[in-house]
Amino acid sequence: MSGTRVLVAGASIAGPALAHWLRRRGAEVTVVERAPELRPGGQAVDARGVAKEVIRRMGLDAAVRAACTETAGAYTVDVDGNVLETYRADDDGGDGFISEIEILRGDLSRVLHDDTRDGVEYVFGDRIAELTQDADGVDVAFAGGDRRRFDLVVGADGLHSALRAMVFGPRERFVRHLGHVLAFYTVPNEFGLDRWLIDYQESGRSAGLRPIPDATRAMAMFSFPSADLDVDYRDVAAQKRLLRERMAGLGWLTPDILAHLDDTPDFYLDQVAQVVMDRWSSGRVGLLGDAAFSSSPMSGAGTGLALVGAYLLAGELAAAGWDPEAGFAGYERRMRSFVEANQEIGRLNARSRDVPGPDAEPSIDFDSEWFTELIERAINGVELPDYAGVPDSGAPAGSPITSSAKP
Ligand SMILES: Cc1cc2nc3c(=O)[nH]c(=O)nc-3n(C[C@H](O)[C@H](O)[C@H](O)COP(=O)(O)OP(=O)(O)OC[C@H]3O[C@@H](n4cnc5c(N)ncnc54)[C@H](O)[C@@H]3O)c2cc1C
Repeated sequence: MSGTRVLVAGASIAGPALAHWLRRRGAEVTVVERAPELRPGGQAVDARGVAKEVIRRMGLDAAVRAACTETAGAYTVDVDGNVLETYRADDDGGDGFISEIEILRGDLSRVLHDDTRDGVEYVFGDRIAELTQDADGVDVAFAGGDRRRFDLVVGADGLHSALRAMVFGPRERFVRHLGHVLAFYTVPNEFGLDRWLIDYQESGRSAGLRPIPDATRAMAMFSFPSADLDVDYRDVAAQKRLLRERMAGLGWLTPDILAHLDDTPDFYLDQVAQVVMDRWSSGRVGLLGDAAFSSSPMSGAGTGLALVGAYLLAGELAAAGWDPEAGFAGYERRMRSFVEANQEIGRLNARSRDVPGPDAEPSIDFDSEWFTELIERAINGVELPDYAGVPDSGAPAGSPITSSAKP
């Protein structure tokens, strides 16, 4: 069946990537985004291994590379700025700690939106208020007053997914806080930062600076431990107060970076959390990206999982003739162990930042064989079928899908 109508909630990374693949497979796609326009901001996000292959299959390799941060690598420093350790972007074939493809989240969102804006209906400043499904479709009432019927609905509305809460249950059931909070915002580059990321750590807290495409500015990064996050994730003023409070007394350039907190045009702060669910679908409603399986920023993989998941979800649904049960089941079967490997890395990285207590678990040996194997599974451990025989209207000219990335 072609012309299947799919509603996607969320226009960040997972939503527009899914829209790309659904449209290519012949669906009619509507994306509803709560924010009044595409949201800018956010840290650099990475694409490694199979995620790079998905970008290539989308025909967006050149556009993504053109928007990359071109970070040469990272170094850690002591309180006086002396270099302690160095990591290069070309380590591990470009899939290392600093990956070869690093792009600001807002820039990637823009690339994906530009690619799909013709042929996909985007509705900004609205959200799903109510949803009722029956055997043949889903009736959706939008907060703005519209009522429409769709064949399928997918929540790509992030860690705090409202669709997940509506269909699967309250967030406390699925969201696992990993004990840290991260914040990012841009500052004037008065620090002489070139193409290297700098990271300073002190008793479980960290401050850092990273280069962004606009060389006159830099991205400030902070992390601090927190048993739970007691500020509203939409109350930016309260979040800034919390950051100031928790960063008090941190050395290195911290006070100079914090001095720009009130004049920054962008700001992002959230708890480091994962979403763990038994299933990512219920009837005609499915979840994708952070809404379904956030691996946390500590995994460096949220964007890769969203891109790979979008490819597989659209492919499996189309291959199943848009049958929700078979399509969602195929997507879950293919994605699950890949998600679990990335979530494991997120948990280990978060634990490595914990200040060890008296009964702390032994420290993690990041050079061990099992960790190297885990990393390999997290980067390449999922098969991308070619979906030969499944409709594909938009295969980019000159770059047919001919290979499968295999675990
Ligand atoms: C502004 C912003 C900044 C970010 N910064 C970072 C960062 O610095 N580092 C990092 O590792 N990760 C960051 N993330 C998360 C990162 O984008 C994701 O981990 C990953 O890319 C997967 O993306 P996603 O599309 O699944 O979810 P998200 O990127 O979280 O996107 C969810 C989208 O859904 C929209 N939305 C929320 N509720 C509704 C609703 N009820 N109806 C419709 N739309 C809704 C949101 O506005 C957002 O556009 C950020 C996300 C956002 C939105």
